[in-house]
Amino acid sequence: MRMTGMMSPEALIPDVLLAVRELSKRFAGTPGPVVDALDFEVCRGEIFALLGPSGCGKTTTLRLIAGFERPDRGQVILAGNDITAAPPERRGIGIVFQDYALFPHLSVLDNVAFALRGRPRKIRRQQALKWLEFVGLADCAKRLPHALSGGQQQRVALARTLAAEPGIVLLDEPFSNLDTALREATRMELRGLLKAAGTSAILVTHDQSEALSVADRIALMRHGSIEQIGTPEAVYRTPRTRFAAEFLGNTNLITGEAAGPVATTVLGPVRLNERAAGTVILSLRPEHLNLADGRGHPAAATVLAREFRGHDLFYRLDLSGQTLLALTDYRVVFEPGDPVLVSPREPAVVLRRLKEDAGGAAEGSHQARAAE
Ligand code: ATP
Repeated sequence: MRMTGMMSPEALIPDVLLAVRELSKRFAGTPGPVVDALDFEVCRGEIFALLGPSGCGKTTTLRLIAGFERPDRGQVILAGNDITAAPPERRGIGIVFQDYALFPHLSVLDNVAFALRGRPRKIRRQQALKWLEFVGLADCAKRLPHALSGGQQQRVALARTLAAEPGIVLLDEPFSNLDTALREATRMELRGLLKAAGTSAILVTHDQSEALSVADRIALMRHGSIEQIGTPEAVYRTPRTRFAAEFLGNTNLITGEAAGPVATTVLGPVRLNERAAGTVILSLRPEHLNLADGRGHPAAATVLAREFRGHDLFYRLDLSGQTLLALTDYRVVFEPGDPVLVSPREPAVVLRRLKEDAGGAAEGSHQARAAE
């Protein structure tokens, strides 16, 4: 491992385990940088998600951290040591691959013991069994990987990675091989195991619900840069840009004329999450809209469609030619064609204007827009 002569500033902040500094990478044939001056930290014991659409540079970032790619610029610092030029096997970083990369001809126990090669055989087996117990699979030690479910195989891969006692674990789309039913259970399980092991991890995913449920913090990536970074609650509830608002879930984008803490909108005056002035684009999540009987009210919206979702109801509404989405309690029942009064139950979030947001509501067309 290459060590800098001096301790890096990150080493002085006890909580920071991994720091990525101004990391950039461009491939021959790509028009611009795939990873563009990326800067973030992962704290000790933290589960950190890199979330973003396909092609935004998540996997390349992970490969740069792992050492499978060389950056054009920037640094990767782990536990105060600059590892930018260190070979992958000397970085102290564990990786759980998307396909788990288990040896098909080795038993589950031998797969895990493989991570401990170089140690006496007896110790390897004891340690491997300990990690299999940790992930709840000691009973499956003698089986071959193909005799396990996808979720179990992932746990074996995690046990093998943790057995090597890495400084940090990288997980690339860890749930993509699992069917929908297994995913929800498995992601909670994975989070529980990482927390129980006290291991820091970076999770790469394009699935916002995975990032929201598993991570302590999320970095939302777009075009190789971080659009927004924060806790799941913060990025979901207070998106800073239209892209963040739309990527994290359904939202209503509404144009307003702001004057301090309030804006005039198609919904009437709405409270804002921060003071603003002039034309603003606002985000209101469907669950932040309240619906009430609008009979006889001139400002009522009309129900276009209702979707029954078991625990709640999802409405598509028309208000002065603009479509709004609303998610309500299962008891708030309106029929298509019904007039409804729509009011926000939370302050609307003022979005920052970016050049990329040109068009539609962001151009101040006064057209409320609901993300599909
Ligand atoms: P996905 O979720 O689809 O895996 P991603 O966000 O992980 O996407 P990357 O795999 O990092 O994105 O790829 C980012 C961009 O870099 C893509 O346009 C991809 O085609 C390009 N790219 C990745 N690796 C290489 C390479 N070795 N050579 C050339 N281009 C590459």
